[in-house]
Amino acid sequence: MTQAEEKNEEEKKSLNFIELAVEADLAAGKNGGRLNTRFPPEPNGYLHIGHAKAICMDFGIAAKYGGTCNLRFDDTNPAREDVEYVDSIKEDIHWLGFDWGDRLYYASDYFPKLYELAVRMIKEGYAYVDEQTSEEIAQQKGTPTQPGVHSPYRDRPIEENLDLFERMNKGEFAEGSMVLRAKIDMASPNMHMRDPIMYRIIKYPHHRTGTKWNVYPMYDFAHGQSDYFEGVTHSICTLEFEVHRPLYEWFVNFLADENYGPRQIEFNRLNLTYTVMSKRKLLQLVQEKLVSGWDDPRMPTLCGLRRRGYTPESIRNFVDKIGYTKFDGLIDVALLEHSIREDLNKNANRVAAVVNPVKLIVTNFPEGQVEYLDTENNPEKPEAGTHAMPFTRELYIEREDFMEIPPKKFFRMTPGQEVRLKSAYIVKCTGCKKNAAGEIEEIYCEYDPATRSGLPESNRKVKGTLHWVSAQYGVEAEVRLYDRLFCVENPSEEKEVDFRELLNPDSLKVVKAVIEPYLAETAKAGDHYQFQRIGYFSVDPDSTEGHLVFNRTVSLKDSWEKIKGKN
Ligand code: ATP
Ligand code: MG
Repeated sequence: MTQAEEKNEEEKKSLNFIELAVEADLAAGKNGGRLNTRFPPEPNGYLHIGHAKAICMDFGIAAKYGGTCNLRFDDTNPAREDVEYVDSIKEDIHWLGFDWGDRLYYASDYFPKLYELAVRMIKEGYAYVDEQTSEEIAQQKGTPTQPGVHSPYRDRPIEENLDLFERMNKGEFAEGSMVLRAKIDMASPNMHMRDPIMYRIIKYPHHRTGTKWNVYPMYDFAHGQSDYFEGVTHSICTLEFEVHRPLYEWFVNFLADENYGPRQIEFNRLNLTYTVMSKRKLLQLVQEKLVSGWDDPRMPTLCGLRRRGYTPESIRNFVDKIGYTKFDGLIDVALLEHSIREDLNKNANRVAAVVNPVKLIVTNFPEGQVEYLDTENNPEKPEAGTHAMPFTRELYIEREDFMEIPPKKFFRMTPGQEVRLKSAYIVKCTGCKKNAAGEIEEIYCEYDPATRSGLPESNRKVKGTLHWVSAQYGVEAEVRLYDRLFCVENPSEEKEVDFRELLNPDSLKVVKAVIEPYLAETAKAGDHYQFQRIGYFSVDPDSTEGHLVFNRTVSLKDSWEKIKGKN
């Protein structure tokens, strides 16, 4: 085991604070020794890499301790939600490698029970209908150091509250004209306890319940109770809900007893450099066509990452590396890129593709002749086998691999110097031809037949090795070179500028490449490859018969190793 692997093993053994809390609850026999978590997305957008962190925790911890994890759609705001999102969320969770089995739920399934609870709370004097505007209510909230003011409707008779709430739901009143509020404490140091809103009027058909309801519960009035109705024991969420916890418990206490009650635990959310994670902003990018869709390979969405060429394993490994703490921070996207390189280095076949081609003519190789040379598919994985590459008189190499007048230590193609053509021969450059503008049009070289790959002479010491593609057999392909979506590390922090102005104008470059025939024949949408010396690429679903499209997943240079090295 290397030192890094040993350290990794050690880290794996130490439990995070959520695992410790769960272990302690299980050991104490709480909730009858059950463990049941849930992942509660609101179907108002596609899942992103931040959600992956929550999914790995919710499903992962249940699996680790023999518990179960529910998938619950938190569909309490019909105006923002859609079945398109429900379907994509299910697909993405499965893709990540998790499954909810028969435990699929919707908060909307609890609308009747929640309504019943609200009526009970009104009857017990814990809820009232407020007819003030949202501005008036906000004004009365006070500040964290200043108590709020009681609504003039706070002490209206119970019968009146019951009647109004019922009529709110029948659709007799306009949106915004009244709300149902919990009667808690307008002087609480926790602002969320200052008579929070339980229900508001929304007259918009719900994707599951249609026009049955005219009142919809707020997140705080739905979440804890939904956990309770499902038998959830550990409701694991992100830190911004920490301040909601007293309210979560206050509502749940109307239902729970000493034998069973859900417990909320919070961890730090994932923020990544050079991207935004807010669903509202991601939606804006999609709607304003600043990206090609939710699955644009530059998006931090799971479908975007998938299209970019990320594998579920690389995302799970990344989440494992960043861990769970109580401190919010910003994670370097280089660590995510490192995780996909680690995976693809082991698993992606190596192929030759020239993305900025220039012609190389092997002047002493007979015209019309073709020689098939074997090349290894993956040096990290001998069982991946080999494939054949046609070698011909005319080849393509990268334009950057030639210099007529090179600087010192230029070990690639330059007149008078020998260089190795990968899995083929050692060649010696003899010159080049330029056009009127001084651009290189053709490069000339001579090959040494004795240096054919595999023969003893092929071991001759030559500093550079270049990739190449036969000009006769190579196939043209489209290559999409992606870069970071934003120019700044933390776009959400730039308060003065609209985030859309911080988009990286060079985040996508489309080029024509020449690829070796083996790749053209075998590539299927979703496949991963390493283009030798260039980077990892995946086959885009836009590919059609005869027109392959590749997305650059990540370049080969690992900046994370460098960052880590410095520390
Ligand atoms: P919204 O702005 O719509 O509330 P959201 O990102 O909170 O967006 P939800 O659908 O409510 O989206 O999230 C589902 C779950 O995923 C929640 O438990 C939430 O805490 C978790 N989650 C969301 N974003 C992140 C993130 N960046 N890191 C970790 N967990 C996250
Ligand atoms: Mg949310």
